[in-house]
Amino acid sequence: MSFDLKRLVRAHLLNLKPYSSARDEYKGTKGVFLDANENAYGSVTSTGNYSRYPDPMQHQVKEQLSALKSVPVENIFLGNGSDEPIDLLFRIFCEPNVDNFIQTPPTYGMYQVCADINNIHTINVNLTEDFQLRPNDILSAVTPNTKLIFICSPNNPSGNSLKHDDIVKIIEGFNGLVVVDEAYIDFSDAQSFVAHLSKYPNLVVLQTFSKAWGLANLRLGMAFASVEIMAILNKIKYPYNVNGLTQSLALDALKNVSKKNDYVHKIVAQRKALETTLAQFDFVKKLHPSDSNFILVQFEKANELFAYLIDNEVITRSRTKVVLCDDCIRVTVGTEAENEVFLNKIKTFYSK
Ligand SMILES: *Cc1c(COP(=O)(O)O)cnc(C)c1O
Repeated sequence: MSFDLKRLVRAHLLNLKPYSSARDEYKGTKGVFLDANENAYGSVTSTGNYSRYPDPMQHQVKEQLSALKSVPVENIFLGNGSDEPIDLLFRIFCEPNVDNFIQTPPTYGMYQVCADINNIHTINVNLTEDFQLRPNDILSAVTPNTKLIFICSPNNPSGNSLKHDDIVKIIEGFNGLVVVDEAYIDFSDAQSFVAHLSKYPNLVVLQTFSKAWGLANLRLGMAFASVEIMAILNKIKYPYNVNGLTQSLALDALKNVSKKNDYVHKIVAQRKALETTLAQFDFVKKLHPSDSNFILVQFEKANELFAYLIDNEVITRSRTKVVLCDDCIRVTVGTEAENEVFLNKIKTFYSK
């Protein structure tokens, strides 16, 4: 099956002439910069200077990431969280009120929200009872107007990794783009699909600095894909989509990879401790296996428990209204002390 990206891109974008920013035209760093209407005197802040526009293509961050992920710079896109590439993919490939995408509930809510905002139809193919893909059903749900399939692995909110071979089957059997969202990949032993980029021209892999790296506040997401997909993402994005503070703090973080790995080990150890304790309670009806930094737990009286926890200032995520998640609460792994507060509160609730 030959893959033709141009066939998928919304026709009017193929010849779009993108905005050319001042910093795109002159790449040097020395000189008198009178090109971008910035304030040459500085910033109206107590400290720091932010008066100059940031690097629109985030070259330094991408170079560090390239070394870390073994992916060439030209296959890396950075955005304002993963949310930005998710939204861009809909806007690039899906014609409003004509095209559709496939998702596999229960899954991350942003795919549907971005699709709805852009007026793109959603086709749902639920995961199995044990939260695995149904690759044959997914491929038979494809219509001539299906442009994107979103797969989240490890999956939010269930926490488990999806089977590698099932994902491969979908990538190989679909003539549109398959987006594999790996927001939680650092917590998993599963191999990243980044390693398969050169094999699959229809693959986009998403990762983020929001979870394992502890930088949710900075809003920095990554997309990895072919040079052709990069070209269109870069053409459509806001010119300065990643601010300079985020870029410099990301560079700092990328010098501390071992600190990220230490955090990951700690969080996974805490998750295992939490799982061991939760497994002993009879009010826990099901503990879903997790490959991430959270656990989906089916509780007796889940709605009452959730409300009680909020009243006691322990905030979890109720998933009780989500398909296949009856009576389930999603709890993020906290510090040892935070997890103890959570466990004590649920014990108190059920002893009443
Ligand atoms: C948290 C999360 C993200 C990260 O989103 P950002 O916009 O990068 O913060 C992406 N995908 C999934 C499935 C998530 O749970």
